[in-house]
Order: sequence, then C-alpha cells, then structure tokens
Amino acid sequence: MAAKDNGDSNYIGIDLGGNTLKGALVSSAGDLLREGRLEPEELSQDRIISQIADMVANLRDAERGPRIASIGIGVPGLVNSRSNRIEILPNLPDLAEVDLIAELSERTGLPVVLDNDANAAAYGELQAGAAAGKRDVFYVSLGTGIGAALIISGNIYRGATGFAGEFGHMTIDPEGIECRCGNIGCLETIASGPNIVRRTRERLYRDRTSSLSKLALPRNREFTALDIARASREGDEMAQVMMERTGMFLGIALAAVVNLLNVELIVLGGDVMEAGDLILKPTIKEVRRRAFPPSFNACEMVIAKLGASAGVIGAALLARDHR
Ligand SMILES: [Zn+2]
Repeated sequence: MAAKDNGDSNYIGIDLGGNTLKGALVSSAGDLLREGRLEPEELSQDRIISQIADMVANLRDAERGPRIASIGIGVPGLVNSRSNRIEILPNLPDLAEVDLIAELSERTGLPVVLDNDANAAAYGELQAGAAAGKRDVFYVSLGTGIGAALIISGNIYRGATGFAGEFGHMTIDPEGIECRCGNIGCLETIASGPNIVRRTRERLYRDRTSSLSKLALPRNREFTALDIARASREGDEMAQVMMERTGMFLGIALAAVVNLLNVELIVLGGDVMEAGDLILKPTIKEVRRRAFPPSFNACEMVIAKLGASAGVIGAALLARDHR
C-alpha cells in the first residue's frame, strides 16, 4: 500500500484513545514534527470520522516539508488483520460498523493503515523509544484499559486473526468482579486506571478514620489514576499502598508472560506508570518471586520512553513500514 520510504516522506499517526483523539506529523526517522489533540468534550461519536479527517487536514496544512506518504491509525479494540476491519471497539461501538480504512482513504486521498492502539504504541517504543534495538519485547500500557503487544523476533506478533496481546483480559482473580469484556476477574478489573480509582475509593470508604491519605486524595472529589500515581510520588501512603498492590497483581500476570515468552524486555507505559518506581519495583519483585530465575534474569523491565506520544509515533511508523 504505502510506497517504499526513501527518507523523504512524512507520515501522519492517529491515536484514537478511550476518550481523546490525538494526531501527529512524524518524519520517516520517527521524529515528532507536530501534534494535534481533541479532548473528550470535543469528540463526537457521530462525527468521529470527520474529526479524524479534519485532524489529518490540519496536520497537512502545517506541512511545508516533504510530502505525506500515508496515515497510520491505532484504535482501542480488536482489529481483524485479515479483513482489516474493527471487530470490537467498546468505547466507540458505531465505528466498528464502518470500513474505517475505506472512509478515511476516500476523505484524505492517502493510504491508511489500521491497527490496535497497543500495537501502535509498542511499535513506537520499538522504533524510537525504550525498546530500540531489541527483538523480543512485551509492551503493556496501563491506562483507561490495559493494552499490550508482543514483539517477537523484531516483529509485532498479531496471532491468527490479529487479536493477540489481550493481556488485560487474563483472569487474575476467579472470584473477582465482572470485566467490561464479560469475563470475571480480568487483570484490567484490578490494574486499569479506573479500577485503581475504584479500589482506592473502596479502601478510603472502608477506612474512614485512616490518616493514611492526606489532602492529595480528597474523599469527596473525583480523582484519577494519574492523581493517585502523582500522590504516591508525593509521599501519600494510601496511594503508595495502592500502587504496591497494583504492582503485585501486575507482577503475577507478567511472571506468566516471562515464563511463556522468554522476552528480553518488558516495557510498561500509560498514565499509571507515572508512579515510576513505586509501581515498577513491586511489579519486578513479584515477577522475580514467580518466574523461572533464568527467564527472569534474561528480562529487563523498564518504563516506556515516549510517554503519551507513543501511540501517534508508532501509528505513523506502522504506516511507514506497511507492505
Ligand atoms: Zn476482561
């Protein structure tokens, strides 16, 4: 689809998140040239394709350099790699009904490559971030949901039909709560941003007399996982306990991955990882406890480098490398 890149083209990457739309103009070397963003209150389910096309047009207008060769788009759902159609997109179910590639190609006149958002972010980290130069990598993003991607021998492993990497929906607590996927006790029901908030609220409610949580986590105001992550860094003990517990559950799931895949690197991204070592260390501790020591020793665990831009950069580079 996309012509072979000879270094004189730019690419557009689109990251359709759970509730934001991000876009970027990216050079063939993976440099971020320009970014655009629509916030949740600006997004319209009915107009989402027009909004993506408008974002592409705005990024193009700003362009005075090399031509734009193609567009890559990452979506938070299951993308069938055979049919190139979205099969499940929980946050934007209407979009799963349309042929996104055909619609966007028609509106922009550019080739469009579609993939899962975690695959896109992992590809960004592989090409221009924390996993540069590595070949066997597991990428996890802890945000609104839990996304993950497998990089095997330097390539994204998509499975038979494109649905591989649904790490967030591994059962971690058979007697846990129902997940939005329909299963009970998925890792996502414990370690996604909204579920960390839910667990923190439950704990604050049970333990009203506790002095553990300072002003950083108000009991009567909305807060997010990012607030908890930041509060943990500022020394809030309740927030630290929550991050430690979350890291433990994440570590249980990752130990299985380490034993199953013998990857050399695990990259952890998403808002929740703003807690830094306060979640990374308990995660590593739990993996060490459970995985085979030689497999554990062969695997480094690090925090992602590209931050919130991983998805747009990766989507653009997937477009660059698409054959
Ligand atoms: Zn699930």
